[in-house]
Amino acid sequence: METMEEWIRRLPKAELHLHLEGTITPRTLVELSALKGEQASAMTLAEAEALYAYEDFTGFLQAFKAVVTELRGPAEYELAAWRMLEALAEQGVRHAEVYISVGVIFRLRPEEDRRDPELFARIFAALERARVRGERELGVTLYWIFDAVRHFTLDEAARVFRLAAAMRREHPSIVGIGLGGDERQAGSEPFRALYAEAAAAGLRLTNHAGETTGPEAIREALGIGSERLGHALSAERDAALMEELRRRQVPLELNPGSNVRTGVCPSREEHPLRRYFDAGLMVTVNSDDPAFFGATVADEYWLAHAVHGFTREELRRLAENSFRASFLPEVEKQRWLDQIGSC
Ligand SMILES: [Zn+2]
Repeated sequence: METMEEWIRRLPKAELHLHLEGTITPRTLVELSALKGEQASAMTLAEAEALYAYEDFTGFLQAFKAVVTELRGPAEYELAAWRMLEALAEQGVRHAEVYISVGVIFRLRPEEDRRDPELFARIFAALERARVRGERELGVTLYWIFDAVRHFTLDEAARVFRLAAAMRREHPSIVGIGLGGDERQAGSEPFRALYAEAAAAGLRLTNHAGETTGPEAIREALGIGSERLGHALSAERDAALMEELRRRQVPLELNPGSNVRTGVCPSREEHPLRRYFDAGLMVTVNSDDPAFFGATVADEYWLAHAVHGFTREELRRLAENSFRASFLPEVEKQRWLDQIGSC
């Protein structure tokens, strides 16, 4: 008899809100630190685990940065991407649209960036090697989303988005852009012109909105043309906004585990996943930064069942939504929807 966990694993799923850097487990971090060569000694697992200890949202951002610091060059990024792909395949994720914190890469190493203008191109080539191998060996397809940091300068975001636009011509796997970082310090309005420019270049527009802020941040994100919203936790405080999200079927990348761990939602029971779903919103579940939050996307499906009472039929709908809300071509979406229907 197949258990619910086994069935969830078999159910084809797309993950739409996943930060590459947030998939790096302490174990992978040890492997990454060992790539440094003989001069520097590798980190122990205990040292790696200590980096993941944080108390609140601000502490999480600091821990995230500490892990990103270990990603020094192409070899580290390739290994991190490969370990992420293995983990996705293990959970039955068949397609993922993955945020790369490109803004952080430039901000963390200004010296190297000045000295070596080709560094990012080499990092990206390494990520592409992992992506192609993942598709071939694991049957998992990947798209990349270049993520800028909203509380850095506008010039830094412009650089990230224009790089995505320029590289996309040669690398169609670069499907879109996004804005992460601290919403309490910067909203979406300042990025209006940059979003329009990115859309004109054929990039799809995602945005973190309403995670640590109120519904006005979600309205602002919609106002600059964001097509898919990360978190949207505070939407339910605004009935008219809820109605607009429902009517337009704006895809929401919900991350219940993340919201509980960063403390922006008091408990899983209180997370609006079920209420949004019942209100007819276009809801998907995602893991955000699984290595930091301790739950994979397969765990999120299981918890939707265990905590919010989602039936198999409802979990199928979540899986269908994940492909419908993806940036895959229609024919690919349909292929996965057919497979979910018979699962
Ligand atoms: Zn996120």
